[in-house]
Amino acid sequence: MLLIEIKPNSCDFCGCCVGVCPEDAIELQEAHISIIEERCTNCAKCVWVCPFEVLLFNKPEKRRSGASVSPEETR
Ligand code: SF4
Ligand code: SF4
Repeated sequence: MLLIEIKPNSCDFCGCCVGVCPEDAIELQEAHISIIEERCTNCAKCVWVCPFEVLLFNKPEKRRSGASVSPEETR
């Protein structure tokens, strides 16, 4: 179960989270960031490293479906 949420309209696409993820679970391609649920272990390293507080660690009951931000959502 993926507990990391990506807050829309906040990502600067700096790539810091990609660099710290031990599972290579974050994809950053052309201003689009997403987390691969099958790889993510919810370690929250990406949450702590993000300088813009884009990534949130949610308890299961607060989890929203989908963990992806498209370019349209960041405008
Ligand atoms: S989620 Fe945060 S650390 Fe990751 S690319 Fe976006 S701004 Fe950078
Ligand atoms: S919670 Fe951990 S495993 Fe999941 S995307 Fe973030 S750094 Fe990677």
